Amino acid sequence: MTAHLMNTYARMPVKMVRGQGAWLYDDAGNAYLDALTGIGVCSLGHCHPAISAAIADQAGTLLHAANVARIPLQEELADRLAALSGMDQAFFCNSGAESLECAFKLARLHGHRMGINAPQVVSLSQSFHGRTLACISATDSAKVQAGFEPLVPGFLKAPFDDAAALVRLAEERDDIAAVLFEPIQGEGGVMVPHDGYLAEVRRICDQFGWLMIADEVQTGVGKTGDWFACQHEGILPDVITLAKALGNGVPIGACLARRKAAELFVPGKHGSTYGGNPLACRVGLTVLEVMEGEGIIERTRELGKRIRASLREALADHDHVREVRGRGLMIGVELTEDCPQLVGWAMEQGMIMNVTRGNTIRLLPPLIIDDSEADRIVDTVSRAVQSLRLPAAV
Ligand code: PLP
Repeated sequence: MTAHLMNTYARMPVKMVRGQGAWLYDDAGNAYLDALTGIGVCSLGHCHPAISAAIADQAGTLLHAANVARIPLQEELADRLAALSGMDQAFFCNSGAESLECAFKLARLHGHRMGINAPQVVSLSQSFHGRTLACISATDSAKVQAGFEPLVPGFLKAPFDDAAALVRLAEERDDIAAVLFEPIQGEGGVMVPHDGYLAEVRRICDQFGWLMIADEVQTGVGKTGDWFACQHEGILPDVITLAKALGNGVPIGACLARRKAAELFVPGKHGSTYGGNPLACRVGLTVLEVMEGEGIIERTRELGKRIRASLREALADHDHVREVRGRGLMIGVELTEDCPQLVGWAMEQGMIMNVTRGNTIRLLPPLIIDDSEADRIVDTVSRAVQSLRLPAAV
């Protein structure tokens, strides 16, 4: 390990040097089935030929131009995202956290427009929204926040998947401008709210004039078997944040907004030097094109059902499996005990996955996996769980 990298990650000693499709390769030539995709990024797999060709072509055409002039690829990507999401406008940036920062600024402008002096954004228990100061303030994790106090003011917490708690907050306070939620919580343990929850949040936001902000940084762009996870319930939020899979490995973030939320910015209110540059937007457009052209959304839905069903079957007799859940290819296997050691175990078996919330195996495989790769994921996870020598559950 070099001493010249800041000490922010507890890394495995493996050196990844190459990727192809669903596979990563280390410097010794060992292959690993990538069931995590750089934490939900490389949905089209590594080095997808259409993405690599688009990058090479754009590198020889135009990489960057300042936002002082029109950027046709940026306008085209905004049009495509608006058509797919039902939103009206896009702001482009470079990461998930930045897309959230944009959403927070929209929430505050909206709050001030409502006549609120210190507008509050309600975020939910077990949420994760990124690592900037405002993002960790919205995130519900003492571990993520510890040491960075004072946190950014203007964030309140409410329990996840509990619409009645939001109504109670609305009755207690008159300074709320927005509700922020992940339609399926990723870092929080692949938590899927009950059917109807998003519709209830939509109704509450409409009733009290709050912006409904969906953080789809992890769930967005096909991963759950629909373009956006809110679409499973036919819900249109006011703001959607995106990043990760939109660039398949090239940094890009986007904050999409609709109706009144799309009317808040005027020139000078927000910006980003790199945001929406031709390279990132060309890649974003290519990602959407490949997903549509190859029927990837439908396949994701099918594969997700198949993998979850196979996991349930393979793990049916295992006392320590509490639940297999998820949507599309965002899958969680919750155990009754913490199991962080399974990450290293799986890597030794040639597969990359992770564990969130201490006890939940999280799978975010590429959406382009074939049936044998899907079977291999099920087999490795089953063996990983079987490998645990836990005391019998009571
Ligand atoms: N929001 C959610 C739901 C995320 O899962 C993440 C990252 O994991 C972020 C925001 C932050 O994104 P980034 O790491 O690109 O800043």
